[in-house]
Amino acid sequence: YKTETTPAPIKLSSNELPYDLPPDLKGRVSEALKGIPFNRYPDPNSERLKSAVAEFFCVPEESIVLGNGSDELIYYLSIVIGEFEQGVYIPIPTFPMYEIASDVFGRPKTCVPLDSSFDIDLEESIRRVEEEKTVLAYFSYPNNPTGNLFSREKMEALREKGLFTVVDEAYYSYSGDSFVSDALSREDTVILRTLSKIGLASLRVGILIGREEVVREIDKVRLPFNITYPSQVIAEVVLREGRDFLQWAVAEVVKERERLYREMDSMEGVEVFPSRANFLLFRTSLPAKELHSRLVDRGVLVRDMSHLPGLEGCLRVSVGKREENDAFLEALYSVVSSLQ
Ligand code: PMP
Repeated sequence: YKTETTPAPIKLSSNELPYDLPPDLKGRVSEALKGIPFNRYPDPNSERLKSAVAEFFCVPEESIVLGNGSDELIYYLSIVIGEFEQGVYIPIPTFPMYEIASDVFGRPKTCVPLDSSFDIDLEESIRRVEEEKTVLAYFSYPNNPTGNLFSREKMEALREKGLFTVVDEAYYSYSGDSFVSDALSREDTVILRTLSKIGLASLRVGILIGREEVVREIDKVRLPFNITYPSQVIAEVVLREGRDFLQWAVAEVVKERERLYREMDSMEGVEVFPSRANFLLFRTSLPAKELHSRLVDRGVLVRDMSHLPGLEGCLRVSVGKREENDAFLEALYSVVSSLQ
């Protein structure tokens, strides 16, 4: 898995929340950290954090498995669901960890390109899934890096073909759309959430939600102590005491996403795609690599997505603070207009 490490003063490359915790909340976090016995192992089952997560996402505690980021949970699902000889369905382009986890465990992949509106190509997907007897499906919902929500009916139609369905809702806070009721009522569906996109990327806390009998099976392969003591303590404080801040921050990002979209949409030479997440995918006629480096020269780091199938010339920009977005817009405008 490659991440973007080029240093730049304005980092809009990893879909993080642009705001750090406010000072009073950080103060309460520091107080809580003082209480940690650093010589001791953490709670292996993260019970207190699990209860805070359950309350935050309005689901029962018994329906939750916590992971060291949802990345770890993607590994677990790739181990537990079906046999290693059985295939994994992945609509592409998407978040690379689904393919990486399948490769690590030697599982065959049924990668089917999205259609021209970045939705699922249902006919081709059903054909391939039936032919290849695929058993597990990953959907990034909204999809990273295209930003859209796939058609729910198409996802359901694929699930009807017998696929265990993982709906990765990493960007749920920004989309407001969920499969949580399916995850709580059906044995063939789980959802993934994460704290990484709502201000706590540093902690590595991912969340799997599913029926108790499914959760129990996944918990069997979970490494003991997979959530560190500091992560358990800090995440609990923030989820219990930082709700107002989180709500404000998400609303700001959604507002800024819409402003960025409008501004980019009105720029000649830029094609921007609508997004339900905290990032925007866009294309220009410049080679993406060149645009990427010209933006870095102007202090702004975005992510080059042009290596992915169907995304020639595309880059992805995370929504930042208002002034960061202004700096990005100005840099983009000056690079693109200098070439018209
Ligand atoms: N799923 C998707 C769709 C993502 O975009 C990301 C982060 N880029 C993740 C999961 C990983 O989240 P975490 O930090 O919880 O491992």
